[in-house]
Amino acid sequence: MSAEVKAQNQQVIKNVEMRQIIKRFPGVLANNRVCFDVHAGEVHALLGENGAGKSTLMRQLYGLYKPDEGEIIIDGKPVVFHSPADAIRAGIGMIHQHFMLVPTLTVAENVILGLKSAREPLLDLATVSRKINELSASYGLKIDPSACVWQLSVGEQQRVEIIKALYRGASLIILDEPTAVLTPQEVKDLFATLKHMVREGHSLVFISHKLHEVMEISDRVTVLRDGQVIGTHLTKEMTRNDLVKMMVGREMKSLSPQPISTGPVRLKIDNLHTLGDRGTEMLRGLNLEIHGGEIVGLAGVSGNGQRELAECLSGLRKVTAGQIELDQSDITSIPLKNRVQSGLSYIPEERMRDGAIREFSVQENLFLQDHASPQFTRGIFLDFRRMEIFAAKMIKDFTVKTPSLDTPVKNLSGGNIQKLILARELARQPKVLIAAQPTRGVDIGATEYIHERLLSQRDAGTAILLISEDLDEICTLSDRIAIIYEGNIMGIVDRNTATVEQIGLMMAGIPMDEAVQRTT
Ligand code: ADP
Ligand code: MG
Repeated sequence: MSAEVKAQNQQVIKNVEMRQIIKRFPGVLANNRVCFDVHAGEVHALLGENGAGKSTLMRQLYGLYKPDEGEIIIDGKPVVFHSPADAIRAGIGMIHQHFMLVPTLTVAENVILGLKSAREPLLDLATVSRKINELSASYGLKIDPSACVWQLSVGEQQRVEIIKALYRGASLIILDEPTAVLTPQEVKDLFATLKHMVREGHSLVFISHKLHEVMEISDRVTVLRDGQVIGTHLTKEMTRNDLVKMMVGREMKSLSPQPISTGPVRLKIDNLHTLGDRGTEMLRGLNLEIHGGEIVGLAGVSGNGQRELAECLSGLRKVTAGQIELDQSDITSIPLKNRVQSGLSYIPEERMRDGAIREFSVQENLFLQDHASPQFTRGIFLDFRRMEIFAAKMIKDFTVKTPSLDTPVKNLSGGNIQKLILARELARQPKVLIAAQPTRGVDIGATEYIHERLLSQRDAGTAILLISEDLDEICTLSDRIAIIYEGNIMGIVDRNTATVEQIGLMMAGIPMDEAVQRTT
């Protein structure tokens, strides 16, 4: 790294220590006497389930929140940050989960946005661009300073955020779930950059809930659960299982994912076209067949037509050309209610918008589409007693935690709402199930349970389309994996023979043959 770039670093932090941090939000103890420290030249992973308190802890280190109690100590001196500006001055940077760039400005403009440095009264863009080029060369962060941010891929935008932090002289950089939005190739590039930064003496906090990433990139790992530190260890002394146990508080069951047998095609998607919300074509002649007794995982970078496909299949979006067949009957233009009657179930991505009604009770939500089915009617009347018994059984079978059947759904946690929708959708014994992001935002315990139910539904002969941004989930559950790219299926691979690298290349638009060639 050039001396000039290095000279920008205000200081090199040797050690940061957070002591006995307590942070409360209304009704939640988000951090409960948390102790956490980071040394120069290490990657310290902060691992925990959704809601464990990871982001909250790091937002305090970055000056976004003030601890209710506890101390932050940098190189032996207690500090109090009133805002991120204070943290940045102390040498701390943070890359958020959602980027904070202005799309209409260039990379260089974004990098200096908000900088009022006395050292640089005139923000000469040529100089800025030169410095960005130096940083990008020395850290392997490929980026064009004159490109507009809206033209950049998500991975490139993340690089801009990292450069922004480096430009401000950050010595310790916090990355909040940085891989959630990346393709496997981009993750590889990011990890290479992170290793580079560590070699240059930076310290990194890597927030994640993905075990294999933590195992790969971190030197130490701290596990948070329910706002408390469960332990801090050298990563190399931990197994995946140790970490899961710490995260979840118990052993996980292992799934047995081999299918029993696959039957004939139950869902046939033929030359499907549809428009997205902005009127551009989002599906461009997509073909896919799913057999009874198999799970086909749809892998892809979000925004390549996954959402539109799910909506076309469920009848929420209009098909502009092509056909959808369920057990050989054409369902292309019939409404969701009738699709349900023909044997289609749908677990929507937007569960509060498309899957449940917030104000309705648990029981009402369980019967959203089924209330007129014959098993619950007596003459022209609904048989409430039978409905109640049935609802109680579903709640019990699917381990939905709710105070009562009359509780409004909005009072349940995300995982419990998802289990409720799953209970309703699987109770019909569907011929075809479309599961869109079924475990997003759901804790590990509920995720494991949802996975088990999907596998047993598959073994009962349902054809399942699993749409997920979580490639691990896709690889764990799917019998075949279809890769979607720009509204078409790039190829379909077998779970037993494909590699994550191949799938990743195809997610980036590389045709299957080439992807196979490049990785063998
Ligand atoms: P993680 O990053 O580990 O997923 P968070 O730190 O975001 O977890 O959240 C920890 C807990 O604090 C959660 O219960 C969350 O709902 C709550 N929480 C986080 N931020 C706020 C906030 N700004 N206001 C109220 N509650 C919050
Ligand atoms: Mg978080």
